[in-house]
Amino acid sequence: MDDTKPDRKTKQVTTLPLHQLHNSSRPNLLKIALHRGANASTIIGPIPVRTRESKPEDAQDGLPVKTEPPAPSVIAQPVYKQFHLGMFEIGRALGKGKFGRVYLARERASGFICALKTLYKDEIQQGRMEKQVLREVEIQSNLRHPNILKLYNHFHDSKRIFFILEFAGQGELFKHLQREVRFSEWKAAQYIAQMVSALRYLHGKHVIHRDIKPENILVGIYGEIKLSDFGWSVHTPSNRRLTQCGTLDYLPPEMVDPTRLNKSYDEKVDLWSLGVLMYELLVGEAPFEDIPLMTQRRIAKADMTIPGFVSPEATDLIRKLLVVDPNKRMPLEQIQQHPWIIKHCSTGERAANREKSRSS
Ligand code: ATP
Ligand code: MG
Repeated sequence: MDDTKPDRKTKQVTTLPLHQLHNSSRPNLLKIALHRGANASTIIGPIPVRTRESKPEDAQDGLPVKTEPPAPSVIAQPVYKQFHLGMFEIGRALGKGKFGRVYLARERASGFICALKTLYKDEIQQGRMEKQVLREVEIQSNLRHPNILKLYNHFHDSKRIFFILEFAGQGELFKHLQREVRFSEWKAAQYIAQMVSALRYLHGKHVIHRDIKPENILVGIYGEIKLSDFGWSVHTPSNRRLTQCGTLDYLPPEMVDPTRLNKSYDEKVDLWSLGVLMYELLVGEAPFEDIPLMTQRRIAKADMTIPGFVSPEATDLIRKLLVVDPNKRMPLEQIQQHPWIIKHCSTGERAANREKSRSS
């Protein structure tokens, strides 16, 4: 990625009073977790270790075939617990966002490791990001999927808001991609298959993410992906959305084409972004990267070139996702059955390599 490229983040201006963000008043997630068996361990148990379901031999390239948390080890905690900063030991800084910092933290009573994200109320107000923050809390705290970063709870003091987040031990996918330049087809397929699983879950709950890109995908301790950053996501209870938001490189034609801006859009925006993500993971740069005006024009026509080193199966899937007409994009269920996913995800990499060497 070159430094002269404009910031991929373009934030939208909205207003909503911050006082609406109270300390969690709905039934505490700890209570829900205690009643939901395995999920409880991710909230109140110690940091997970490799489990029976994910055997070491399954993990190649740091990526497991299956990643389940261990069976719950319940440490008794008050069910309606009111969190405050003193309950956490704060560790190293994990990163810095636009509106705050994220730290590794340990809840003193249980020893539970988490990431504590701190946002300053006045900065959020100045940036008019209240609505995004509220959305992030409302949406993310109700999601439970192994490939979606969990927001366990939140609390606040006079100046700051704190998010208690699942700790993603291997950091940002973007950094992994920068280090490796581009991923092997096998590795990219593992990530895309996990994204499809996360998106099926989200869309099933009528949530559109709207901001899929490597910067918003974290990597867990087993190498599994954790979709995060729900500041732009929306519930779609009844219909389609008209607001333009998100990041230019990953925006679909229905959101960038000025002639189509009055048209509404739906969860198929995430299918387009998934296609852009797949391209970027395999090629090392986004398909429409250019000066903003050109990016916009090229997106509107799905004008891209897929390099020859990308396999025919991967090329086929990218072309079936990056389709201008949202209704013609390959649906999530079909992606899971696509030959590229089947080839790389139904057998491990070593098995695939054995097959290759046998046939050659
Ligand atoms: P924005 O303010 O637009 O959301 P951002 O996504 O960069 O920007 P944060 O979500 O605050 O900001 O995160 C900042 C950085 O901290 C991330 O880029 C990531 O490297 C790290 N980080 C955030 N959450 C976690 C987590 N749960 N586990 C591990 N690292 C994290
Ligand atoms: Mg973030």
